[in-house]
Amino acid sequence: MPSGSASLIWFRKGLRIHDNPALEYASRASAFMYPLFVIDPHYMEPDPNAFSPGSTRAGISRIRFLLESLEDLDLSLKKLGSRLLVLKGEPSEVLIRCLKEWDVKKLCFEYDTDPYYQALDNKIKNYASLAGIEVFSPVSHTLFNPADIIEKNGGRPPLSYQSFLTLAGEPSWASSPLLVELSSVPPVGDVASFEISQVPTLKELGYVQNGQEELTPFRGGESEALRRLRESLSDKEWVANFEKPKGDPSAYIKPATTVLSPYLKFGCLSSRYFYQCLKDVYKNVKRHTSPPVSLVGQLLWREFFYTVAFGTPNFDKMNGNRICKQIPWNDDDELLAAWREGRTGYPWIDAIMVQLRKWGWMHHLARHCVACFLTRGDLFLHWEKGRDVFERLLIDSDWAINNGNWLWLSCSSFFYQYNRIYSPTSFGKKYDPNGNYIRLFLPILKDMPKEYIYEPWTAPLSVQNKAKCIIGRDYPKPVVSHDSASKECRRKMGEAYALNKKLNGVVSEDDLKSLR
Ligand code: FAD
Repeated sequence: MPSGSASLIWFRKGLRIHDNPALEYASRASAFMYPLFVIDPHYMEPDPNAFSPGSTRAGISRIRFLLESLEDLDLSLKKLGSRLLVLKGEPSEVLIRCLKEWDVKKLCFEYDTDPYYQALDNKIKNYASLAGIEVFSPVSHTLFNPADIIEKNGGRPPLSYQSFLTLAGEPSWASSPLLVELSSVPPVGDVASFEISQVPTLKELGYVQNGQEELTPFRGGESEALRRLRESLSDKEWVANFEKPKGDPSAYIKPATTVLSPYLKFGCLSSRYFYQCLKDVYKNVKRHTSPPVSLVGQLLWREFFYTVAFGTPNFDKMNGNRICKQIPWNDDDELLAAWREGRTGYPWIDAIMVQLRKWGWMHHLARHCVACFLTRGDLFLHWEKGRDVFERLLIDSDWAINNGNWLWLSCSSFFYQYNRIYSPTSFGKKYDPNGNYIRLFLPILKDMPKEYIYEPWTAPLSVQNKAKCIIGRDYPKPVVSHDSASKECRRKMGEAYALNKKLNGVVSEDDLKSLR
């Protein structure tokens, strides 16, 4: 490349300096480098109908997390002699204009498997190819390239974790050190007629806190991600003995898992760097746990879902998704709203949904409980509806992982033991008999004696009076009876499974109607 030429690093996820091959390549042999982030209205316009079907808009906590991540990235770039350029608009239009006006010769961005980015990136690559611009788009959001795994499996994604592990093996890059530090990057060139803004505030983006969606306690950004990572890894015994199913989903002072998911989602933390750090810990301990329950095993669950999602058309839908059982889910907006707003009358379920709204993060088993309750456990509502609520409110909301886990928990795919239902009353009690988690997230129940905290409707009226919480007035009665609702769910799942088997998965809307 001739001296004086410019490169552009387009940040979307991958909001980090460490282990960022796209950034590293953009900064190599370029006189100028334009680090760009485009505020995309597709995700970032406050939605007046927050929960309207199909809304792609992110909730306020995730947007704040993103803005903090951008500020942190800007700060890190400044230390390297550069800065982040923030523009707003439809990304392909903004980008093409930048490429033209800044006379960019080299365009670098991290490869992204989400369908939205696949379509967008194709558009950009087509333009670049016609304009003679070199494109570098490395796989660095995941440990593996999902396409490689699918190819090894004869063109189809593996549908079990075990077969995924067998195909994947050890990642090819894992034995050499990753580039964790950059000492400098080329300066930003002339930005021509562009009005470059600072990283905007929530207010500037039009987001207002409405009391419904509170702000998460987790701070976004690479610096915080690396701090959290170091903190988690400092307890080598904890890392070595980590067994996911043994964690306490109600732990809130110190969560039972790393809470690195939002940092991985935005790429503030490189999953490859995380993986290498874990392997380093394993080398220095006598014994350690293994996949699927170990921490490395958790990263491999992420890979598994990315691979299946990438290789499955209509992965995020029931219709037209060949790996998804066709189930005649009920439609009931009132029940859906009760679940979403934490008013089911089951304190364990409601507390988890409040944690989702306030923190944008809950423990994996807590997610299990509420997803099972909404779908095959109690309410028999469509997993896509629950997915939408998670997609909006989770700060770690991730297209492949969220859809994959909803398919799993609703017994629509991967996991088929629909008779195994989480109890909304006894599951949480095993971990937290005093109900401290419920008391924190549902303060209306804070004075309810522990004998009744998981089933407050069974408390005598005198106890309810003393606890200043009358069931049916201050806190709802259960929206369904778990015993009868779960029995009915099992029956319907049994019928749906039989129909799917009989029709070999090719079930029409009319077939489903016959089960309603
Ligand atoms: P840790 O246990 O510390 O694990 C480390 C990392 O491994 C996580 O940060 C995550 O990237 C990955 N990981 C862990 N568990 C899983 C899993 N089951 N599947 C895939 N990757 C995993 N996770 C998301 O990141 N985004 C989502 O949108 C999401 N939606 C979910 C929806 C449902 C219904 C369920 C049941 C789970 C969902 N998960 C999702 C998976 C899991 O609950 C979270 O990744 C995990 O709780 C994050 O906490 P952590 O970082 O402390 O996890």
